[in-house]
Amino acid sequence: MSNQPYRRARAGASIRRACRDPVHTVPIPTAMESVYPTEIRRQPETHTLRIIWSDGHEADYEYDYLRGYCPCAGCQGHGAHKVEFQAPESPVEPLTIRPVGNYAISFHWTDGHATGIYRFSLLRSICPCDSCRSERGEGI
Ligand SMILES: [Zn+2]
Ligand SMILES: [Zn+2]
Repeated sequence: MSNQPYRRARAGASIRRACRDPVHTVPIPTAMESVYPTEIRRQPETHTLRIIWSDGHEADYEYDYLRGYCPCAGCQGHGAHKVEFQAPESPVEPLTIRPVGNYAISFHWTDGHATGIYRFSLLRSICPCDSCRSERGEGI
């Protein structure tokens, strides 16, 4: 007879980790960045970001529009193949904007989110200007 207390084996309590890996973003199908921003300017008065491209193209991106296109896995879901607009719950502004390598930028938004790596090709592909919209067949 043993008096040993019954030991409960904790089956390796799996800790659910939030996905914070900044590398874990939705891949954007482009091998090279053919165009890149030469200027990125915050315009707080209009809540837009002005992006001027190396080919002379320029457009104003609304902050909420950019936040909605955050390509991180947390916003888009794991395994998503296409970045889709997810409307933010409340209006946001970028606290900081920093370059990621020579191919992307990332934002730290006022809602605390900061995991999205916005490739230049993504930014260009969601250009909100009238001519790009009509090229994408979105109508104006
Ligand atoms: Zn995100
Ligand atoms: Zn455009």
